[in-house]
Amino acid sequence: MVPGALVLVIEDEPQMRRFLRAMLRGNGYQLAEAETAREGLAQAAGRNPEVILLDLGLPDADGVDVARKLRRLTRAAIIVISARGKEQDKVAALDNGADDYLTKPFGAPELLARIRVALRRAATPDDGPPIEVFTSGELRVDFVRREVLRGGEAVHLTPTEYKLLTALIRNSGRVVTHRRLLHEVWGVNSEHQTHYLRVYMAQLRHKLEADPTRPRLLTTEAGVGYRLLAP
Ligand code: CA
Repeated sequence: MVPGALVLVIEDEPQMRRFLRAMLRGNGYQLAEAETAREGLAQAAGRNPEVILLDLGLPDADGVDVARKLRRLTRAAIIVISARGKEQDKVAALDNGADDYLTKPFGAPELLARIRVALRRAATPDDGPPIEVFTSGELRVDFVRREVLRGGEAVHLTPTEYKLLTALIRNSGRVVTHRRLLHEVWGVNSEHQTHYLRVYMAQLRHKLEADPTRPRLLTTEAGVGYRLLAP
């Protein structure tokens, strides 16, 4: 049997580590553990994990700072774990190299889904050939023909809507921060114009969701950003 991907857990709470250990081992992942930022950085460099679960509240360092250092050190997917109400920390970690986040308390299915998204992304490097067709739920986007379909029906998008959708598709399954979306779609000078996003997300939902008031495809991550449903 081929051993599963190596997941490094950087977390100081013993109870949380027990939960993660049981969940990861039970699902065939290999595990490395660290209780401090210092130990975590050493293991990230020495053991070459594919995924890192990083608690932002560590005893010996600022979590955002650890995320930044890890990003310089490794290509591993960094999934931040943080307490509810720490949206600013999560956003800062995401803007400093983290790939996704989980808010405590979270369940096993959510954790495993995030890890699968992270591993799938690692398997398709940024410099690889671009995808030609993307499908998720009722959505189908043909990038070659620049064609967007919902449930088989053609949908007309404006160039900005198409650009926004493309930015979300490139990160499907992962959260994308407001700042990053604004930067990618409207440029570096628009990073604080979050009202652009609200307007254009409403338009996209109107065109792509069966019920725009209860979005399933394009979900809001309150205070952080948006997430497009993984294929
Ligand atoms: Ca902690």
